Amino acid sequence: MHLRQVATNYTIDSIDSKKSRLLVVDDDPTQLRFYLHGLSKEYHCQFARSGNEAISFARRIPQPDLIILDVVMPDLGGFEICRLLKTDELTSHIPVIFASGVDDIDSKVQGFALGCVDYITKPVLIPEMKARISTHLKLKRQGYLLESLAYTDPLTQVANRRKYNETLQREWSRSIRYAQPISMLLIDIDFFKQFNDFYGHNVGDDCLIKIAHNLHSLSRRPGDLFARIGGEEFVLILCDCDAMGAEAKARDLIQTVSHLNIANQGAPNHDRVTISVGVATSSPKAEDEPLALFQAADGALFEAKNSGRNKYSRANLEY
Ligand code: GH3
Ligand code: MG
Ligand code: MG
Repeated sequence: MHLRQVATNYTIDSIDSKKSRLLVVDDDPTQLRFYLHGLSKEYHCQFARSGNEAISFARRIPQPDLIILDVVMPDLGGFEICRLLKTDELTSHIPVIFASGVDDIDSKVQGFALGCVDYITKPVLIPEMKARISTHLKLKRQGYLLESLAYTDPLTQVANRRKYNETLQREWSRSIRYAQPISMLLIDIDFFKQFNDFYGHNVGDDCLIKIAHNLHSLSRRPGDLFARIGGEEFVLILCDCDAMGAEAKARDLIQTVSHLNIANQGAPNHDRVTISVGVATSSPKAEDEPLALFQAADGALFEAKNSGRNKYSRANLEY
């Protein structure tokens, strides 16, 4: 049977969501067949015989968890493929193991400089390859776990201030590059000190969790970010969103919290828990800083608080 047929049949017959996915890239069919027999019991393997095919498979969902990459190939060489994978936001996170007959030290060093996690010389021994794959998959999972802990607010499980800072910087640059508007909504719970004083800190925590969870579900688009940036303060970053869209979202947020009907007997009006929102929109230019957007939203929030709370106010930024 032709290798492609073998591989395809294997893929269809044994899709197992628990198996890690490997993309194996080599121009030599005998080598690929060797990998197929050695690795496909434990891993969900996909095979590519050229650089272009490898890059297209690496970008396709579901993406591979790890890539085994030959160095010498006729069209794109392994080093060039690795460079392309590592400079593409979509594929840069996938660990690459070089498996090559090229065994001089300069090539190995070059491979690591390009971002590979390992470099194995041919002839490949399957038990060693499996051991290395398993180690790198474990390291990758640990890396993800660490990253998610570093970017998550422990109480509410939404993004934290660090994630907000990084996202704002990235989306701000993207808005400049694509000449798109970006909006920020700063959200602060009204009379929350009184809520805590009346019901106690634990009930206060439960209230924060409930509000965070419900507001988070309103950030639906891929580039958007909802984060907790202070005690009872949250932010929503909306990419490619103009002032009208941002105001509509602010109304949604306020209504969502109001509909939760969480009593706040501690508040001066003895009513339910509400939020105030400061809205700012900008179409930034190269010389602009994202801090200006935050300051504008903060000013607007101050105004919403001063003019009665349970409402939003919009900053007038030039754009
Ligand atoms: P305003 O309507 O002007 O926003 O008044 P406020 O009382 O909400 O604002 P203030 O800044 O005076 O108080 C915020 C309160 O939020 C203080 C603190 O009791 C409460 N808070 C901050 N972080 C937490 C937290 O992690 N858990 C709980 N339960 N409460 C918190
Ligand atoms: Mg506050
Ligand atoms: Mg408050």
